[in-house]
Amino acid sequence: QFTETMKSIARRGDLKAYVEQTPSIYHMLQRAAAKYVTGEDRTAGLEAGLRLINKGYAVSLEYIGENATDVQSCEAAALEMKQLIKNLTDRGMAARVSFDLSHIGLSVDDALAFKHLATLADQTQQTEIELFISMEESAKTEAILAIYERAAAIYPNIGITLQAQLHLTAQYMNDLQADPRRLRLVKGAYQEPKHLAISRSDALNERYLHLLEQSIDKGHRVSIATHDERIVDEVINRGWALKPGVEFEMLYGIRPDLSSKLRKAGYPVRIYLTYGHEWYLYLCHRIAEYPPNLYQAVIDIASD
Ligand code: FAD
Repeated sequence: QFTETMKSIARRGDLKAYVEQTPSIYHMLQRAAAKYVTGEDRTAGLEAGLRLINKGYAVSLEYIGENATDVQSCEAAALEMKQLIKNLTDRGMAARVSFDLSHIGLSVDDALAFKHLATLADQTQQTEIELFISMEESAKTEAILAIYERAAAIYPNIGITLQAQLHLTAQYMNDLQADPRRLRLVKGAYQEPKHLAISRSDALNERYLHLLEQSIDKGHRVSIATHDERIVDEVINRGWALKPGVEFEMLYGIRPDLSSKLRKAGYPVRIYLTYGHEWYLYLCHRIAEYPPNLYQAVIDIASD
């Protein structure tokens, strides 16, 4: 219930407007968000990315946003991502650019999302940049997978995120054609009904590990995107962490102790960085998925 409350807070335009018009609250929340978001503009993301690359991490970058419902906003988001790709290319940064398809067109129509995805993919051919599609709530899963399949058949550098919590994910994975794919496996951030998904539990962890094993056996490149130390330990114990194409991927600001420990132990680790004006949305999501972050946010604000 707390998760749903935080997600509805994130969506409430009136609350967001109130925050934006009240400088004291705006600055307090912005300070709390600074733990998870590199900054409002692209330069902040690029600089943080470079610092992490120099320390031996790989990076993903996301320009925060989702559910853009008019063509102009989708075009603006796609343009920002084009600029990001250009900056990465100019700086020789072999990063991964991550995004929600609903930020670049899916909430308008599938054709717009595909058009923008194809434009970004055209731009990244001949570079070492990967494009990675995030997975959104279950109402969008099949549309996202259809767009991904169409695009991945043309552009080999596009990857897809799959959610272990969905009952259908095993089938989605089987449906992927035999050729190696770029996958990111997450537990899933959305509250879904029981007939569609399993909630946080040992059974979900078991399912996560099973899906992971299948992906590794099929030769996919897999990002193990979790902060769950029990899964991380299991992956290491089973000898999967050093398999070719396998890496850990964690969100910026979350369990930096764990990512640092893994990197120092010689495992490949990618950090997922975000930037953008929609930091408020992102902060609400992080608190929604892990309520103790609310207390941390209060501590960060109070200690400033
Ligand atoms: P959980 O089972 O939620 O928690 C296990 C333990 O991990 C906790 O006890 C705690 O110690 C630690 N932990 C987990 N979350 C936090 C946190 N926020 N702050 C502090 N500690 C925490 N979800 C999607 O639905 N679609 C996506 O496209 C997507 N992309 C992602 C990309 C990356 C790189 C990552 C890391 C996550 C992504 N997620 C996405 C979110 C994911 O689905 C989970 O909601 C999120 O990672 C929390 O689940 P968990 O597996 O980390 O651990």
